[in-house]
Amino acid sequence: MIQLIRGFKDILPGEVELWQEVEKTARSLFEDFGFREVRLPIMERTALFTRSIGENTDIVEKEMYTFPDRKGEMITLRPEATASVVRSYIQHKLYAVDPVQKSYTIGPMFRRERPQKGRYRQFYQINAEVFGIESPLIDAQIIFMLVTLFTRLSVTGLTANINSLGCPKCRPAYKEKLIEFLDGLSESLCSACNKRSSKNPLRVLDCKVPTCAESVKDAPSILDYLCPDCKDHFETVQDLLNKMGVEYIINKRLVRGLDYYTRTSFEIQTTALGAQNAVAGGGRYDGLINILGGPEIPGIGFAIGFDRLIDILSQNMEPRIRQPEVFIAALGDDCQKVAFEWTNALCAEGIKTEMDFSGKSLKALMKRANRLGARHVLIFGESEMKEGVAALRNMATKKQILVSLNDIVRNIIKNII
Ligand code: ATP
Ligand code: MG
Repeated sequence: MIQLIRGFKDILPGEVELWQEVEKTARSLFEDFGFREVRLPIMERTALFTRSIGENTDIVEKEMYTFPDRKGEMITLRPEATASVVRSYIQHKLYAVDPVQKSYTIGPMFRRERPQKGRYRQFYQINAEVFGIESPLIDAQIIFMLVTLFTRLSVTGLTANINSLGCPKCRPAYKEKLIEFLDGLSESLCSACNKRSSKNPLRVLDCKVPTCAESVKDAPSILDYLCPDCKDHFETVQDLLNKMGVEYIINKRLVRGLDYYTRTSFEIQTTALGAQNAVAGGGRYDGLINILGGPEIPGIGFAIGFDRLIDILSQNMEPRIRQPEVFIAALGDDCQKVAFEWTNALCAEGIKTEMDFSGKSLKALMKRANRLGARHVLIFGESEMKEGVAALRNMATKKQILVSLNDIVRNIIKNII
């Protein structure tokens, strides 16, 4: 038997209802905040990701599914969504119509990491991005929107971590200080961090290896190096979050795994998932649109780890599975043919209806109706047919009534709601 690929998974009925509910909640909330959906391809040219995410990052160094297509062009299964959203904004010159664009997208991402709980090779993200707004008001607003989504989903026990990563004006001085600090640590850092410590020292702060995390505990903080503009920006974000009652902690080691972030960065962490503690992450990326060939337009966004959110939700929430309103138990060929039409008519009216096509006995059909959790069973055999009626049984009260075959679909609907 051919099994699925390691790190990939099937989302089956029974679980998928929870995914649908989260999706519905997210869509409706984001749309209330003025976001519109974009649906983008899951494959892009490799250069889109190497240029945006950055060469010395975990994703680009070791996690991307990259391969030549049949003509030898290098393509990559997207490891994240922002690069594509930016590409499409530039490619379709959406900024010329209105530089401000708020969009969201939901879909699969691919990273070849070591599979474990909360970490898959195909996983799903819910992304939201805002282009064209420089004001810190939008930073606070999208954090508020994210937190509101979790509140609507009744997820508790989350902590919002925020930090500022500065800008190209103030970050270089900090980077130098950090490189100096890391120089003295080469013994205790993992080999990847040793390689990165001079080229991309911020990445070291993001390393998951426990000895690395321990070693950088006393690393200098970027917050001590922010230029006045970045400092103002970050303080305003904090003021606004305070005013909105959004609880957060300042985490000076929060740098996030992608190179394109500037200023505000944030992550929503949970204690419910063990090692994989990040449920959502995001931040500002003011240089990215320009790096990818567009105008100087600022951007900010976040990505929710959909799989991890589902893991948390399923700890204390059963998916709501819609039971059939009606199960039609038609006995014998002739009755089945007639009842088949009612089944389809009821389905088309939005009444969830099931019918068994196998010609089993009434006893077997009742058993099946019970297993499906049907609220009503419509019994229709030779004798009912002769009398021009069918028997409608309420499975909860066990009460049974006869409904006339004349306009039966209406009769059923009238009697079940
Ligand atoms: P982590 O630190 O856990 O590796 P990350 O910083 O690489 O996360 P991002 O690129 O910021 O993650 O993606 C945003 C969110 O997507 C994460 O907070 C997480 O919830 C989810 N995520 C990232 N990688 C995976 C994965 N391999 N499997 C499942 N979810 C993931
Ligand atoms: Mg990662």
